[in-house]
Amino acid sequence: MMRDSTVNFTVLHRTCKLLVLLCFLHISVTLIFYVRSLEIPFAFAHNRRQNHSAKNLQTTVKDSLPGERNLSFDTRTTIAKELEKCPETSPLLVGPLRIEFSAPVSLDMVIKENPNIQKGGRFKPGECVALQKVAIIIPFRNRDEHLRFWLYYLHPILQRQQLDYGVYVINQDGEEVFNRAKLLNIGYAEALKEYDYDCFVFSDVDLIPMDDRNLYKCFSQPRHLSVSMDKFGFRLPYNQYFGGVSSMSKEQFLKINGFPNNYWGWGGEDDDIYNRLSSKGMSISRPSGAVGRCRMIRHDRDKKNEDNPQRFDRIAHTRETMNKDGIKTLSYKVVRVEKEQLYTKITVDVGKK
Ligand code: BGC
Repeated sequence: MMRDSTVNFTVLHRTCKLLVLLCFLHISVTLIFYVRSLEIPFAFAHNRRQNHSAKNLQTTVKDSLPGERNLSFDTRTTIAKELEKCPETSPLLVGPLRIEFSAPVSLDMVIKENPNIQKGGRFKPGECVALQKVAIIIPFRNRDEHLRFWLYYLHPILQRQQLDYGVYVINQDGEEVFNRAKLLNIGYAEALKEYDYDCFVFSDVDLIPMDDRNLYKCFSQPRHLSVSMDKFGFRLPYNQYFGGVSSMSKEQFLKINGFPNNYWGWGGEDDDIYNRLSSKGMSISRPSGAVGRCRMIRHDRDKKNEDNPQRFDRIAHTRETMNKDGIKTLSYKVVRVEKEQLYTKITVDVGKK
Protein backbone atom coordinates (compact mmCIF):
# COMPACT_ATOMS: atom_id res chain seq x y z
CA MET A 1 0.00 0.00 0.00
CA MET A 2 2.74 2.30 1.10
CA ARG A 3 4.70 1.38 -2.01
CA ASP A 4 1.68 2.06 -4.22
CA SER A 5 1.14 5.56 -2.84
CA THR A 6 4.83 6.39 -3.32
CA VAL A 7 4.61 5.24 -6.96
CA ASN A 8 1.45 7.33 -7.48
CA PHE A 9 3.09 10.34 -5.95
CA THR A 10 6.13 10.04 -8.20
CA VAL A 11 3.91 9.72 -11.29
CA LEU A 12 1.92 12.76 -10.20
CA HIS A 13 5.08 14.70 -9.52
CA ARG A 14 6.44 13.91 -12.98
CA THR A 15 3.16 14.79 -14.68
CA CYS A 16 3.10 18.11 -12.88
CA LYS A 17 6.70 18.83 -13.91
CA LEU A 18 5.81 18.05 -17.53
CA LEU A 19 2.77 20.29 -17.33
CA VAL A 20 4.82 23.18 -15.93
CA LEU A 21 7.40 22.64 -18.67
CA LEU A 22 4.68 22.63 -21.34
CA CYS A 23 3.19 25.81 -19.91
CA PHE A 24 6.62 27.45 -19.93
CA LEU A 25 7.13 26.38 -23.54
CA HIS A 26 3.72 27.69 -24.49
CA ILE A 27 4.33 31.04 -22.84
CA SER A 28 7.76 31.30 -24.52
CA VAL A 29 6.36 30.57 -27.98
CA THR A 30 3.51 33.04 -27.42
CA LEU A 31 6.02 35.63 -26.28
CA ILE A 32 8.23 35.10 -29.35
CA PHE A 33 5.26 35.49 -31.71
CA TYR A 34 4.11 38.55 -29.86
CA VAL A 35 7.49 40.24 -30.10
CA ARG A 36 7.77 39.39 -33.81
CA SER A 37 4.30 40.73 -34.47
CA LEU A 38 5.53 44.02 -33.02
CA GLU A 39 8.63 44.01 -35.26
CA ILE A 40 6.73 43.60 -38.56
CA PRO A 41 4.86 46.91 -38.46
CA PHE A 42 8.14 48.52 -37.42
CA ALA A 43 9.86 47.00 -40.44
CA PHE A 44 7.02 48.19 -42.68
CA ALA A 45 7.35 51.67 -41.35
CA HIS A 46 11.09 51.55 -41.98
CA ASN A 47 10.68 50.34 -45.59
CA ARG A 48 8.00 52.86 -46.26
CA ARG A 49 10.30 55.60 -45.09
CA GLN A 50 12.99 54.38 -47.56
CA ASN A 51 10.60 54.16 -50.51
CA HIS A 52 9.22 57.51 -49.65
CA SER A 53 12.66 59.09 -49.68
CA ALA A 54 13.50 57.29 -52.96
CA LYS A 55 10.45 58.93 -54.50
CA ASN A 56 11.47 62.18 -52.91
CA LEU A 57 14.87 61.72 -54.46
CA GLN A 58 13.37 61.69 -57.94
CA THR A 59 11.39 64.80 -57.31
CA THR A 60 14.15 66.52 -55.42
CA VAL A 61 16.73 65.83 -58.09
CA LYS A 62 14.30 66.65 -60.87
CA ASP A 63 13.19 69.81 -59.18
CA SER A 64 16.72 70.76 -58.41
CA LEU A 65 17.88 70.81 -62.01
CA PRO A 66 19.35 72.99 -63.30
CA GLY A 67 19.22 75.02 -60.10
CA GLU A 68 21.43 72.29 -58.64
CA ARG A 69 23.26 74.94 -56.74
CA ASN A 70 20.26 75.22 -54.39
CA LEU A 71 21.12 71.85 -52.90
CA SER A 72 24.16 71.70 -50.69
CA PHE A 73 26.80 69.19 -51.75
CA ASP A 74 26.17 67.16 -48.57
CA THR A 75 22.45 66.96 -49.25
CA ARG A 76 23.08 65.75 -52.77
CA THR A 77 25.55 63.11 -51.57
CA THR A 78 23.14 61.87 -48.90
CA ILE A 79 20.32 61.68 -51.44
CA ALA A 80 22.53 59.98 -54.02
CA LYS A 81 23.55 57.32 -51.51
CA GLU A 82 19.99 56.08 -51.32
CA LEU A 83 19.90 55.04 -54.99
CA GLU A 84 22.07 52.29 -56.41
CA LYS A 85 24.64 53.02 -59.13
CA CYS A 86 23.39 52.47 -62.68
CA PRO A 87 24.66 49.25 -64.29
CA GLU A 88 27.61 49.32 -66.73
CA THR A 89 25.22 48.37 -69.54
CA SER A 90 21.88 50.09 -69.43
CA PRO A 91 18.92 47.68 -69.66
CA LEU A 92 17.04 50.35 -71.63
CA LEU A 93 19.17 50.14 -74.80
CA VAL A 94 17.46 48.92 -77.97
CA GLY A 95 20.35 48.61 -80.47
CA PRO A 96 20.08 49.68 -84.15
CA LEU A 97 17.89 52.71 -84.88
CA ARG A 98 16.17 54.09 -87.94
CA ILE A 99 17.50 57.55 -88.63
CA GLU A 100 16.06 59.71 -91.38
CA PHE A 101 15.79 63.39 -92.15
CA SER A 102 12.91 63.52 -94.63
CA ALA A 103 10.25 65.05 -92.36
CA PRO A 104 11.21 68.17 -90.41
CA VAL A 105 10.86 68.10 -86.61
CA SER A 106 9.69 70.90 -84.34
CA LEU A 107 11.12 71.76 -80.94
CA ASP A 108 7.64 71.61 -79.36
CA MET A 109 7.32 68.04 -80.51
CA VAL A 110 10.73 67.14 -79.06
CA ILE A 111 9.85 68.84 -75.76
CA LYS A 112 6.57 66.92 -75.54
CA GLU A 113 8.26 63.62 -76.28
CA ASN A 114 10.96 64.20 -73.64
CA PRO A 115 9.14 65.39 -70.52
CA ASN A 116 12.00 64.45 -68.19
CA ILE A 117 14.52 66.86 -69.69
CA GLN A 118 15.12 69.81 -67.39
CA LYS A 119 15.63 73.36 -68.57
CA GLY A 120 18.98 73.90 -70.23
CA GLY A 121 18.96 70.34 -71.65
CA ARG A 122 19.82 68.58 -68.41
CA PHE A 123 18.93 65.04 -67.40
CA LYS A 124 19.66 62.53 -64.64
CA PRO A 125 18.20 59.04 -64.52
CA GLY A 126 15.54 58.73 -61.81
CA GLU A 127 16.06 55.02 -61.18
CA CYS A 128 19.80 54.95 -60.41
CA VAL A 129 22.89 57.11 -59.99
CA ALA A 130 24.58 57.67 -63.38
CA LEU A 131 28.14 56.41 -63.66
CA GLN A 132 29.35 59.56 -65.40
CA LYS A 133 28.48 63.25 -65.55
CA VAL A 134 28.70 64.10 -69.23
CA ALA A 135 28.75 67.52 -70.88
CA ILE A 136 27.89 67.34 -74.57
CA ILE A 137 29.48 70.19 -76.49
CA ILE A 138 28.22 71.16 -79.95
CA PRO A 139 30.07 73.84 -81.96
CA PHE A 140 27.45 75.85 -83.81
CA ARG A 141 26.49 78.62 -86.18
CA ASN A 142 23.25 78.96 -88.18
CA ARG A 143 22.32 75.29 -88.19
CA ASP A 144 18.95 75.37 -86.39
CA GLU A 145 17.37 72.71 -88.60
CA HIS A 146 20.24 70.29 -87.90
CA LEU A 147 20.10 71.06 -84.20
CA ARG A 148 16.41 70.13 -84.11
CA PHE A 149 17.18 66.72 -85.64
CA TRP A 150 20.08 66.26 -83.23
CA LEU A 151 17.88 67.01 -80.21
CA TYR A 152 15.07 64.86 -81.56
CA TYR A 153 17.28 61.79 -81.95
CA LEU A 154 19.87 62.26 -79.22
CA HIS A 155 17.78 63.12 -76.14
CA PRO A 156 15.97 59.75 -76.13
CA ILE A 157 19.24 57.89 -76.79
CA LEU A 158 21.14 59.65 -74.01
CA GLN A 159 18.33 59.04 -71.53
CA ARG A 160 18.31 55.34 -72.40
CA GLN A 161 22.06 55.33 -71.82
CA GLN A 162 21.31 56.40 -68.22
CA LEU A 163 23.70 59.33 -68.29
CA ASP A 164 23.72 62.39 -66.06
CA TYR A 165 24.16 64.86 -68.92
CA GLY A 166 23.81 68.41 -70.17
CA VAL A 167 23.73 69.71 -73.75
CA TYR A 168 25.77 72.85 -74.54
CA VAL A 169 25.46 74.52 -77.93
CA ILE A 170 28.39 76.90 -78.36
CA ASN A 171 27.31 79.45 -80.91
CA GLN A 172 29.99 81.53 -82.66
CA ASP A 173 28.85 85.14 -82.75
CA GLY A 174 29.42 87.39 -85.77
CA GLU A 175 30.55 86.61 -89.29
CA GLU A 176 34.21 85.80 -88.77
CA VAL A 177 35.76 82.56 -90.04
CA PHE A 178 34.45 79.56 -88.07
CA ASN A 179 36.71 78.08 -85.40
CA ARG A 180 35.43 74.63 -84.38
CA ALA A 181 38.21 73.62 -81.95
CA LYS A 182 38.13 76.92 -80.08
CA LEU A 183 34.36 76.57 -79.65
CA LEU A 184 34.97 73.09 -78.20
CA ASN A 185 37.49 74.51 -75.71
CA ILE A 186 34.96 77.17 -74.73
CA GLY A 187 32.27 74.52 -74.27
CA TYR A 188 34.57 72.60 -71.92
CA ALA A 189 35.27 75.73 -69.84
CA GLU A 190 31.66 76.96 -69.76
CA ALA A 191 30.12 73.57 -68.89
CA LEU A 192 32.48 73.23 -65.93
CA LYS A 193 31.27 76.57 -64.58
CA GLU A 194 27.82 74.98 -64.23
CA TYR A 195 28.37 71.48 -62.95
CA ASP A 196 31.12 69.13 -61.93
CA TYR A 197 31.26 67.22 -65.24
CA ASP A 198 33.83 64.45 -65.46
CA CYS A 199 33.38 63.58 -69.13
CA PHE A 200 33.06 65.67 -72.31
CA VAL A 201 31.55 64.55 -75.58
CA PHE A 202 32.40 66.79 -78.54
CA SER A 203 29.87 66.41 -81.32
CA ASP A 204 29.19 68.02 -84.68
CA VAL A 205 25.57 69.13 -84.93
CA ASP A 206 24.89 67.11 -88.07
CA LEU A 207 25.94 63.63 -86.85
CA ILE A 208 23.41 61.15 -85.50
CA PRO A 209 24.32 57.69 -84.17
CA MET A 210 22.40 54.77 -85.67
CA ASP A 211 22.72 52.52 -82.62
CA ASP A 212 22.15 53.47 -78.98
CA ARG A 213 24.87 51.04 -77.86
CA ASN A 214 27.35 53.66 -79.09
CA LEU A 215 27.78 55.15 -75.61
CA TYR A 216 28.21 58.91 -75.32
CA LYS A 217 30.50 58.62 -72.32
CA CYS A 218 34.21 58.40 -71.50
CA PHE A 219 36.54 55.43 -71.49
CA SER A 220 40.01 54.67 -70.16
CA GLN A 221 41.40 56.09 -73.43
CA PRO A 222 40.04 59.01 -75.49
CA ARG A 223 37.12 57.73 -77.55
CA HIS A 224 36.26 58.26 -81.19
CA LEU A 225 32.54 57.59 -81.61
CA SER A 226 31.69 58.43 -85.23
CA VAL A 227 33.75 55.59 -86.66
CA SER A 228 31.41 54.45 -89.38
CA MET A 229 29.81 57.41 -91.15
CA ASP A 230 27.50 57.07 -94.16
CA LYS A 231 29.45 59.95 -95.76
CA PHE A 232 32.59 57.76 -95.84
CA GLY A 233 30.78 54.55 -96.89
CA PHE A 234 30.46 53.36 -93.27
CA ARG A 235 34.18 53.13 -92.63
CA LEU A 236 37.05 55.24 -91.33
CA PRO A 237 38.46 57.54 -94.03
CA TYR A 238 41.93 56.92 -92.49
CA ASN A 239 43.18 55.27 -89.31
CA GLN A 240 44.07 58.48 -87.49
CA TYR A 241 40.69 60.09 -88.20
CA PHE A 242 39.32 61.70 -85.02
CA GLY A 243 36.62 64.00 -86.46
CA GLY A 244 32.86 64.11 -85.98
CA VAL A 245 32.10 62.88 -82.46
CA SER A 246 34.66 62.12 -79.75
CA SER A 247 34.81 61.94 -75.97
CA MET A 248 37.45 62.65 -73.35
CA SER A 249 37.58 62.65 -69.59
CA LYS A 250 38.66 65.85 -67.89
CA GLU A 251 42.01 64.26 -67.14
CA GLN A 252 42.60 63.19 -70.76
CA PHE A 253 41.58 66.63 -72.03
CA LEU A 254 43.92 68.45 -69.63
CA LYS A 255 46.81 66.11 -70.42
CA ILE A 256 46.85 67.44 -74.01
CA ASN A 257 46.23 71.08 -73.00
CA GLY A 258 42.78 70.86 -74.60
CA PHE A 259 42.37 71.70 -78.27
CA PRO A 260 44.14 74.21 -80.56
CA ASN A 261 42.65 77.72 -80.74
CA ASN A 262 44.19 78.76 -84.03
CA TYR A 263 42.58 76.54 -86.68
CA TRP A 264 40.32 78.96 -88.58
CA GLY A 265 38.08 77.48 -91.27
CA TRP A 266 37.49 73.89 -92.32
CA GLY A 267 39.80 71.01 -91.54
CA GLY A 268 42.89 69.95 -89.65
CA GLU A 269 41.87 70.67 -86.05
CA ASP A 270 40.75 67.06 -85.48
CA ASP A 271 44.09 65.81 -86.86
CA ASP A 272 45.88 68.20 -84.49
CA ILE A 273 43.86 66.72 -81.59
CA TYR A 274 44.85 63.23 -82.72
CA ASN A 275 48.51 64.31 -82.78
CA ARG A 276 48.19 65.74 -79.27
CA LEU A 277 46.78 62.49 -77.96
CA SER A 278 49.37 60.26 -79.58
CA SER A 279 52.24 62.54 -78.52
CA LYS A 280 51.09 62.01 -74.90
CA GLY A 281 51.12 58.24 -75.39
CA MET A 282 47.37 57.79 -75.47
CA SER A 283 45.59 55.48 -77.86
CA ILE A 284 42.14 55.84 -79.40
CA SER A 285 39.29 53.69 -78.18
CA ARG A 286 36.49 52.98 -80.67
CA PRO A 287 33.21 51.06 -80.82
CA SER A 288 32.87 48.34 -83.44
CA GLY A 289 32.05 49.39 -87.01
CA ALA A 290 28.50 48.06 -86.58
CA VAL A 291 27.74 49.87 -83.31
CA GLY A 292 29.56 53.01 -84.50
CA ARG A 293 27.40 53.56 -87.59
CA CYS A 294 26.07 57.09 -87.93
CA ARG A 295 24.33 59.37 -90.40
CA MET A 296 25.34 62.85 -91.41
CA ILE A 297 22.70 65.40 -92.40
CA ARG A 298 23.68 66.42 -95.94
CA HIS A 299 24.38 70.11 -96.46
CA ASP A 300 26.46 72.55 -98.45
CA ARG A 301 29.66 73.88 -96.94
CA ASP A 302 28.86 76.86 -94.66
CA LYS A 303 29.92 80.34 -95.67
CA LYS A 304 32.96 81.50 -93.73
CA ASN A 305 34.08 77.94 -93.19
CA GLU A 306 36.22 77.44 -96.27
CA ASP A 307 39.16 75.02 -96.30
CA ASN A 308 41.95 76.15 -94.05
CA PRO A 309 45.04 76.19 -96.30
CA GLN A 310 47.38 76.46 -93.29
CA ARG A 311 46.20 73.19 -91.79
CA PHE A 312 48.87 70.95 -93.30
CA ASP A 313 51.67 73.10 -91.93
CA ARG A 314 49.98 73.37 -88.52
CA ILE A 315 49.40 69.61 -88.23
CA ALA A 316 53.08 69.02 -88.97
CA HIS A 317 54.04 71.04 -85.87
CA THR A 318 51.54 69.95 -83.23
CA ARG A 319 54.20 68.70 -80.84
CA GLU A 320 55.94 72.08 -80.76
CA THR A 321 52.78 74.18 -80.53
CA MET A 322 50.48 72.19 -78.26
CA ASN A 323 51.87 73.40 -74.94
CA LYS A 324 51.58 77.05 -75.97
CA ASP A 325 48.19 76.84 -77.65
CA GLY A 326 45.28 75.20 -75.87
CA ILE A 327 42.95 75.41 -72.89
CA LYS A 328 45.62 77.17 -70.79
CA THR A 329 45.72 80.12 -73.19
CA LEU A 330 42.05 80.19 -74.17
CA SER A 331 40.50 83.66 -74.32
CA TYR A 332 36.97 84.62 -75.42
CA LYS A 333 33.95 86.65 -74.41
CA VAL A 334 30.54 85.29 -73.51
CA VAL A 335 27.94 87.34 -75.36
CA ARG A 336 24.78 85.55 -74.18
CA VAL A 337 23.68 82.47 -72.23
CA GLU A 338 20.22 81.17 -73.14
CA LYS A 339 18.62 78.37 -71.16
CA GLU A 340 16.38 76.71 -73.69
CA GLN A 341 14.29 73.72 -72.60
CA LEU A 342 16.35 71.18 -74.55
CA TYR A 343 19.81 72.79 -74.47
CA THR A 344 21.92 75.61 -73.15
CA LYS A 345 22.99 78.00 -75.88
CA ILE A 346 26.11 80.02 -75.18
CA THR A 347 26.89 82.67 -77.76
CA VAL A 348 30.55 83.64 -77.75
CA ASP A 349 32.94 86.07 -79.33
CA VAL A 350 35.96 83.98 -80.33
CA GLY A 351 37.94 86.90 -81.75
CA LYS A 352 39.42 87.13 -85.22
CA LYS A 353 41.63 85.00 -87.39
C1 BGC B 1 40.86 67.04 -92.58
C2 BGC B 1 40.04 66.69 -91.37
C3 BGC B 1 38.75 66.07 -91.83
C4 BGC B 1 39.06 64.85 -92.68
C5 BGC B 1 37.83 64.14 -93.17
C6 BGC B 1 41.09 65.80 -93.41
O1 BGC B 1 41.80 66.13 -94.58
O2 BGC B 1 42.11 67.56 -92.18
O3 BGC B 1 39.79 67.85 -90.62
O4 BGC B 1 38.00 65.67 -90.71
O5 BGC B 1 39.83 65.24 -93.78
O6 BGC B 1 37.00 64.94 -93.93
